[in-house]
Amino acid sequence: MESELVPGFFYKDSGRDITEHDLDIVSDLWTIDGHEVYRGSRDPRYTHAQVYWLYSEDLDRVGLSEHSLSDQADFRVLWFRDTDFGTFLQEDGWVRGEDIWSSLPRAVFDRFVNEGWTTPTTFLEQCLHGPARLVWPAMLRTPPDVYVCTTCGRRSLSPKQGCQMVAEPLDFPTTEKVFFVDEDMIVHRPPPTSRVWDLLIPQPQPSPSDDSQEPPETEQQPPAQTLPPPGPETPPRTLEPPPQ
Ligand SMILES: [Zn+2]
Repeated sequence: MESELVPGFFYKDSGRDITEHDLDIVSDLWTIDGHEVYRGSRDPRYTHAQVYWLYSEDLDRVGLSEHSLSDQADFRVLWFRDTDFGTFLQEDGWVRGEDIWSSLPRAVFDRFVNEGWTTPTTFLEQCLHGPARLVWPAMLRTPPDVYVCTTCGRRSLSPKQGCQMVAEPLDFPTTEKVFFVDEDMIVHRPPPTSRVWDLLIPQPQPSPSDDSQEPPETEQQPPAQTLPPPGPETPPRTLEPPPQ
């Protein structure tokens, strides 16, 4: 998921187990965004901010708080969601559906399995000449280029020998043919209000020659939050992994 405090920084650790450096830490119970959580110790792996993992009562990792290096009181809280897309975008409402194979005609399914086109990347490679597109969570962070041959028109996710390839951003000819898949090829549906479309299909910027007024700033930083003190009625607790 992307840092809100330092946009452009991405957290790749999405594990739910307690981190090693939080074992046996004594933690208070905090209420953050309506969640009751235990907070671990500062994660030494991160230097862009002061990062603390948050744990549920069962000591599952449920999110993190990231605090400005210069001002501890300036912080954001990020939560894990049920799906990788929801977590990446910090959105509720993503729905995990069937795998993509169940929506394909049998002959197409057989061909893709026989050819080994069964990962998101190899599947998408076969779609580039048509309107269908696959999107997986990491693609939101790093959009792929498509290599297009100026001679024969071949399109591929990687440059091909013998062709004159020009790299261009992956296009999305129609939103109806965009399939959001995880690495198991399960199709996920975005909530109607998802900002995923803004990420995939950026709106054209107003041209610099346009001398009309600047558009109003629509994107607002979430306000800084104040961390309430831990409740006095709850005794501090030592974080230990649950018995296996
Ligand atoms: Zn070619």
